[in-house]
Amino acid sequence: MFNLSSQDRDALIGFLQDLVRTPSPSTQEGEVAQRLVEEMQRVGFAEVTTDRIGNVIGRIGSGRGSKLLYNGHMDTVDVTDPGLWPCDPYGAEIEEGVLYGLGACDMKGALAAMVYGVKALVDADVELGGDLYVVGVVQEEPCEGLAMRVLVEEEGLRPDLVVLGEATNLQISCGQRGRIELKVTARGRSCHASAPEHGENAIYAAARLIFGVELLAPRLADDAFLGQGSLSITQIESTAASRNAVPDRCTFYIDRRLTMGETEAKALAEIQSIIVREGVKAEVEVTEYRATSHTGYQCQSKEYYPAWVMAEDHPLVQAVARAVKQTLGYKPRVGKWDFSTDGVYTMGVAGIPTVGLGPGEERYLHTVNDQVRLADVVKAAQVYAQLAVEVIGAR
Ligand SMILES: [Zn+2]
Repeated sequence: MFNLSSQDRDALIGFLQDLVRTPSPSTQEGEVAQRLVEEMQRVGFAEVTTDRIGNVIGRIGSGRGSKLLYNGHMDTVDVTDPGLWPCDPYGAEIEEGVLYGLGACDMKGALAAMVYGVKALVDADVELGGDLYVVGVVQEEPCEGLAMRVLVEEEGLRPDLVVLGEATNLQISCGQRGRIELKVTARGRSCHASAPEHGENAIYAAARLIFGVELLAPRLADDAFLGQGSLSITQIESTAASRNAVPDRCTFYIDRRLTMGETEAKALAEIQSIIVREGVKAEVEVTEYRATSHTGYQCQSKEYYPAWVMAEDHPLVQAVARAVKQTLGYKPRVGKWDFSTDGVYTMGVAGIPTVGLGPGEERYLHTVNDQVRLADVVKAAQVYAQLAVEVIGAR
């Protein structure tokens, strides 16, 4: 079992405060990445690099054997109105053992814990039988899985096993629903609004589709573990020459959550059949994510993120359960996340066994109450150290 000295606990907390005090909205993770590199070098990682998209990759281990990867995203969502926060979102204030601020729970707490889990291994002179990577990824919030895809497919670092540090309150997460973003464009024919009989109103066409989409929702597939697929229309816009012209185009967007067995093709076909049934001129497509990373890399990715589930009896899940039991003394619950993570790529696309364990509670994510108990960050660090021994062994 690995214990952190009081000195290490203080250093871990100080490091986490630095991370929270360094703003890192998606695509602007450069400064926090630099801080992560420094800390990895300081605590004794064997190798620390930054890849083309701006992920920070720290490694310890033997250079042969299996590869275990700990994943934590460096970016956070934005602060819309600092006045709504009960504390300074970048203050990293500590009160009664709880650290408050943007990214405390989502997920700089876990990232700091992973770095100090490695420090515990280094200080104990543990020689691993494989390699342990801690990767601080970019742009997880707007496009989960993208940075991991670049790491695996373009940088050639394919781990054998992945642990995500997203908030689980130190229990186990074994999957999540996926999602796809759809854009539906209904077309009409413009004319002067004083004589609408000469045109076709694209808004009326879209309205019929929207009603069909609403009726589709209760009929979506269900899964015993992940729950039912769902959909929400989240935005609508139309174009017309002026407000006294009949609009020729109306576009709306659907946030579609996918349960197991629901694919891109299925989600598209469902909307397509509504278009055919209603007999309107319209098309449906998957939206695209585009951005420039903090290193200048041009990101482009279809907004399709498949659902994934890991079996509870998978050796990786069992190893996490053992590491928690040995370190913290309890048998962790096995559940799922309601939100989406990098697992959509690692398990959902690449089929790399992936499991979640992290400090912090899901209810604080993306809220003005983002917070994490510091005792849990320390516990996570101890579990991450123990888990590496469980999974890739000590020589
Ligand atoms: Zn997150």
